Amino acid sequence: LTALLLTAPASAQPAPYLDPSLPAERRVADLLGRMTLEEKVGQLAQIDVLRLMGQGEWDRGPLNPEWMENVLARQHVGSLLSGGGNAPVPNTPAAWARMTNDLQRYAIEHSRLKIPILYGVDAVHGHNNVVGATIFPHNLGLGATFDPPLARRIGEVTARALRATGITWNFSPDADLGRDPRWGRFYETWGEDPLLASSMVAENVRGQQGDTLGPNAVAATLKHFAGYGAPIGGKDRADARLTDAELRAVHLPPFQAGLAAGVAAVMVNSGSVNGVPGHASGKLLTDVLRKNLGFTGVTISDWEDVTRLQTVYKVAPTYRDAVRLALTAGVDVSMVPHDARGFTGAVLDLVRAGEVPVSRIDEAAGRVLNLKFRLGLFERPYVDPAGAEAAVTAGRDLALRAARESVTLLATDGRTLPLGKTVKNVLVVGERARDPRSQLGGWTVGWQGLPEGESTRAITVLDGMKAVVPPGTSLAYSPTVPAKPSVDTLVVVVGEPPHAEGEADNPGLALPDTDLALLRAAVATGKPVVAVLLAGRPLVLPENVRTRLAALVMAYLPGSEGGRAIADVLYGNTNPSGRLPFTWPRSATQVPGTYDEPFPGGTPLYPFGYGLSYTTFSYSGLRATGDSITVNVTNIGKVAGAHTVLAFARPAGAASPLKLAAFGRVVLGPGEARNVSLSLPRGLFPAGGAEIRVGALQTTTEQP
Ligand code: BGC
Repeated sequence: LTALLLTAPASAQPAPYLDPSLPAERRVADLLGRMTLEEKVGQLAQIDVLRLMGQGEWDRGPLNPEWMENVLARQHVGSLLSGGGNAPVPNTPAAWARMTNDLQRYAIEHSRLKIPILYGVDAVHGHNNVVGATIFPHNLGLGATFDPPLARRIGEVTARALRATGITWNFSPDADLGRDPRWGRFYETWGEDPLLASSMVAENVRGQQGDTLGPNAVAATLKHFAGYGAPIGGKDRADARLTDAELRAVHLPPFQAGLAAGVAAVMVNSGSVNGVPGHASGKLLTDVLRKNLGFTGVTISDWEDVTRLQTVYKVAPTYRDAVRLALTAGVDVSMVPHDARGFTGAVLDLVRAGEVPVSRIDEAAGRVLNLKFRLGLFERPYVDPAGAEAAVTAGRDLALRAARESVTLLATDGRTLPLGKTVKNVLVVGERARDPRSQLGGWTVGWQGLPEGESTRAITVLDGMKAVVPPGTSLAYSPTVPAKPSVDTLVVVVGEPPHAEGEADNPGLALPDTDLALLRAAVATGKPVVAVLLAGRPLVLPENVRTRLAALVMAYLPGSEGGRAIADVLYGNTNPSGRLPFTWPRSATQVPGTYDEPFPGGTPLYPFGYGLSYTTFSYSGLRATGDSITVNVTNIGKVAGAHTVLAFARPAGAASPLKLAAFGRVVLGPGEARNVSLSLPRGLFPAGGAEIRVGALQTTTEQP
């Protein structure tokens, strides 16, 4: 009896790893101590659900028993994903929640130690794999807002939507710099400037992860480490030629900012830098990322990229060598080994042969488990499908605000816009004015944009204009330009089809032929033409078209509320305040050309930071005090507006181009004035002082 009394309380104690009151590190150590090598190795694999299930199979249920058994029960795989390359299964929020619950339940029930799985997606502008989700502008448009708190709110709302459907890992935000607009993924970046991108990335990470990766948060991922944004010729995944200095000054800062914000994961560059594939680069993944930058989270490969060390880069003669190379360089998790067993088998073999130490497996598996503990998955592995719909469709107002802040007015004749004043009768022209795909862009439901037959809710430009057309004025629509339009003004909506990755590289920065033909026909009517661009990069408009426009509006890829935001700007309900987060070249011969490097071939068409307003702001009383500057901004026009103050700097006496040193947004009513204080990065110019310029980079740009 005595013995029983003594042992009973002890055996009722849960294992330390199951005790949520203990720190994650403690729980990881305890759990690792209980796991077999096979179980640990399973944590290093991330398997794509769709490829293995077959499209649509989920809704037809039951679960594919063979797949479940192999991947989850036998290989102990630690995470799953629905990659952007595949249309997701299924589509509605509640069905997503049911699917992730089913997978989670199976994984836990077939795990000896009841270890939950992580589920990852690319929610790069809202929960974009789900029909009906709120879709935010793509990052490039958010860059134009110069509004980091907005990026944080978007992160929060997106994380909440993901978590409500059982998704715990987001392959976002992109921390690559958009240094070459020919590159198909330019729109996934925040533009060309390291400081702007850093600020947006850091706040987005904070939004997604919250302070503690709580029940409404997800693990965010900085991608693609590093140098992915500078492929030669703007060709996706081509080699990037970068000096260490360039890497440090230009490409690493957004990653550093995201790391400082506590990001959980980093995804590896699928391309190569100076001939070394990202996934084999011990220099980048271990020396820079771990040793110099101090990252302690999970490093995940990009899609199939461990395999590609053998098949594409040919730096490994066998798959086993590829796995060794990646693990040794510093990759913790392999995203999409198509054959789960092949991958785990190779890792086990390497460990048993002494080519990869067990400590490396413990380290990598421990990082994955740490995330699972911090996300609370051991305590709350399931979600309530009834809550999914509301979370996924939340944030419409935020998306509208983001789109409104992003729209950038590039040219205006001063008469035509805003519509509804002198212009009474408007004809909206072009299929893109009523095509959700053009404003949502890539990575929306399907990878390259909505798949055939699918739709997600979006307010198109035409919808938006119909909603705000003022009384006493008229609005009509035509997909093409009529021979004799009987209206005052044409609003022509042109741009790019939705696009993703390499398929979207655009070496000439060309507008599609049909869109260009539409613009030509429009200016040929002799009527004032307002061109609205739905595009993920600067596009080169032929001189004889561009200079004949009455106004040019860059709307980027503004998301599900984008049409309303554009209409608000066109009709003057919103005063445009977007500023270009990149340099707009006159022709593709000027790329890659950024504002902070000597610029090839004269001046660009519109400089970085360019963007017009319906009002005028004047500056006075500029003061610099040590680590901050203050300027008084007055709205001297007749309408309220938001304005971003940009401060550029360079070492005193230097001839090098100015670089953005600080920025701040202010909203001012007509006649209103305010002091705007901007703090300068510490140690910006250690000796000799600095030249600081507040305002536009290039004051005169030709206007129509
Ligand atoms: C992309 C990544 C993405 C991954 C998963 C890859 O092709 O490069 O950005 O996270 O697919 O969808």
